[in-house]
Amino acid sequence: MKKVISLLIAYLILVQTTFAADYKLLKPTYILDVEQGELIEGQEVLILDDKIAAVGSHQAIRDNYDLSDGNVRSINLEGMTLMPGLIDAHSHILLHPYNETSWNDQVLKESRAERVARAVGHLKATLGAGFTSLRDLGSEGAGYADVGIRKALDKGVIVGPRLIVAGRAIVATGSYGPKGFDLSHTLTLGAEPADGDDLIRVVRDQIGKGADVIKIYADYRWGPNGDAAPTFSLKEIETIVETAKSSGRKVVAHSTTQEGMRRATLAGVQSIEHGDAGTVEIFKLMKDNNVVFCPTLAVTEANAEYAGWKKGEDETPSSVKLKHAAMTSAIEAGVTICNGSDVGPYTHGDNLRELKLMHEYGLSIEETLQAATMVGSELMNMKDKLGQVKVGYLADLIVVEGDPLNDLDVLSEINLIIQKGQVYKPN
Ligand SMILES: [Zn+2]
Repeated sequence: MKKVISLLIAYLILVQTTFAADYKLLKPTYILDVEQGELIEGQEVLILDDKIAAVGSHQAIRDNYDLSDGNVRSINLEGMTLMPGLIDAHSHILLHPYNETSWNDQVLKESRAERVARAVGHLKATLGAGFTSLRDLGSEGAGYADVGIRKALDKGVIVGPRLIVAGRAIVATGSYGPKGFDLSHTLTLGAEPADGDDLIRVVRDQIGKGADVIKIYADYRWGPNGDAAPTFSLKEIETIVETAKSSGRKVVAHSTTQEGMRRATLAGVQSIEHGDAGTVEIFKLMKDNNVVFCPTLAVTEANAEYAGWKKGEDETPSSVKLKHAAMTSAIEAGVTICNGSDVGPYTHGDNLRELKLMHEYGLSIEETLQAATMVGSELMNMKDKLGQVKVGYLADLIVVEGDPLNDLDVLSEINLIIQKGQVYKPN
């Protein structure tokens, strides 16, 4: 299967088609309304530049716009469903699967140039899979390469999803890796260490260097037996959030422990990533404080598979059981759940895996699609611009055959991708 996927990605050469006309008129049979969870029939979508100019009937659009020949390029999508482009709110474009190269070796042995070169391919595969936006949560030792990549995308130098990036991310001194080497070596760390009042300077420095969002590790595997334990104090996380907030930026927290999740929630982070040990009580606290939960199910299953687990054959490993329990508790608590897969440690372009797992672990298809569009747009801080097929919204759209509300597998084959108003064909 893995071979098939990599072959598919190899053949997925995105050809950008340019049109002379100002308007693009998309004529699908159905439009997916993710908010209502229904397919709308008999509507067309008019795109001007990078925005949706109109959504309406054939006649209504013609009554209001001059769509004479040479002014518009019509794209016939008969039998197809037009829907918002998908959003993965937790990616690492500068990482590649750990069964190819361990995290330590990627951070310590791969040059910055190699990592960026790989990322260019990762972005192409991601867009080809219908993911038009990513919230990329940490360069993992590659400095601010993500900021440079985001700028290259903005300039049209390379092709890929819309990005917001975290830059280096912040960890408490002593908590993060690589670890286990002779102490006389000075190693490249996977994130930037900072503590106490110095956090103010580091947050501001990261903002100055181009971070769109501040990522912190509220806990990490640095307990006495290598188990996860909290890192920053509540006061430290409050300092980080307050400093980021005055620049208009949000903070997201990696956290797998109850105490880490509690501190991050009370300090006012926007989302909590992983949440393995979350209980109904913790998820309710998150809900009450408008904190979004990104469960990252796909990476957990991928890591279990790298360790030898055969899904469907072997007994479910404890890490996966914990995720099932966390999802059940989160759904019971009613906290907002996002689509954040932690892709990178597993194959870029295979992001759909998270959506399928969210459904398998208890979310309805409708909620899963909302998580990957509307909730994602909130986390991209583009709530009123992205994630729905609406007038005035950005033209980040995908075209599929069939009804995604009936079967998420429909999303495994994308027929057309429209991003920033540009039309791409996976072929
Ligand atoms: Zn991650």
